[in-house]
Amino acid sequence: MDGWVIRGLKTGIVTTKYPDETDTTPGISPGFPSETDCSKTNADKISERCPTGALKNSNEKMYVNHRRCIHCYRCLRNVQNPMDWKTDFEWATVRGELPNFPEKFKHSLHIRVVDSGDCGACLNEVKLLNNPFYNMHRLGFFITPTPRKADILLVVGPVTDHMKPALLKAYEAMPTPKRVMAVGTCALTGGIFENSFVTEQGVNDIIPVNIEIPGCPPPPLAILHGLLVLAGVKEQNIDNTLAEKTGGNNR
Ligand code: SF4
Repeated sequence: MDGWVIRGLKTGIVTTKYPDETDTTPGISPGFPSETDCSKTNADKISERCPTGALKNSNEKMYVNHRRCIHCYRCLRNVQNPMDWKTDFEWATVRGELPNFPEKFKHSLHIRVVDSGDCGACLNEVKLLNNPFYNMHRLGFFITPTPRKADILLVVGPVTDHMKPALLKAYEAMPTPKRVMAVGTCALTGGIFENSFVTEQGVNDIIPVNIEIPGCPPPPLAILHGLLVLAGVKEQNIDNTLAEKTGGNNR
């Protein structure tokens, strides 16, 4: 936060330079643990500390299933040999094929946001995309209140039983070509609601997801990166096979 204020006072501009330049402002991202060399004994100790089962030891390496990780820091703090930690934010992952939007649409993409039962954290990060620092309008992304004018359906939350019909209606009302973006651990796997009797285990159980943004919650720049991947401006950075390396569990 301090970095933004100082830059704003010096230049009169607070908006991030991302995606033209990467943003290294302190606190811009909570980061994620990354693949780490590990002795077996230590690996078992670290795995036991992970509350979401996101860590898997294989061939003296610890792998992280980013779809499950909630960046709680339990594998970093107060452990003898902690996991390596990356503080980047380009976490968007494409599911299957991602057909591009026609070129003429790419500079004006409209997003319909559906809260399918989130705790409020992911939705707050999505709201921040409209503030002067992230200012997603400069990149051609706009929020729309109606699915009939939306190109992208952005969904947060694990999909509660009550929100399932509303989510389906919104998806069906959208014109083609349409894309679905699942934002946050709950939308990807059900998160802490995974075994609940009143929710699904993520958005993909209901409608086909094209792009996933892991994190609990993902920071605004991670969501912005996902939108840029959808628009064909950026590439994904996270290894798609990580979920397989962490036990073949795609949840
Ligand atoms: S930061 Fe992620 S991988 Fe590490 S203990 Fe927490 S949930 Fe597990």
